[in-house]
Amino acid sequence: MKCAICPSENAILITDSVTLKDPNGKDVIIQDIEMYTCNDCGEKYLDRMQARIMSLKAEAAGIEIKRRRWGLPLPDQS
Ligand SMILES: [Zn+2]
Repeated sequence: MKCAICPSENAILITDSVTLKDPNGKDVIIQDIEMYTCNDCGEKYLDRMQARIMSLKAEAAGIEIKRRRWGLPLPDQS
């Protein structure tokens, strides 16, 4: 699969946990997030649907996600 970060074709789908900070600066681990990782550049990233799922899980844990953190264009920028 083509990497969204570099020109590689070696991106694969994985399931991993993501550690986020809650508003108090405490680490919160969000489990079972599907994401892509690239075997060449090593970046992990989310597509829009994956980002949405992660946002929902994070919101359920009391965290507001800023999508830019994941390098995704916001819909009005694409
Ligand atoms: Zn890459």
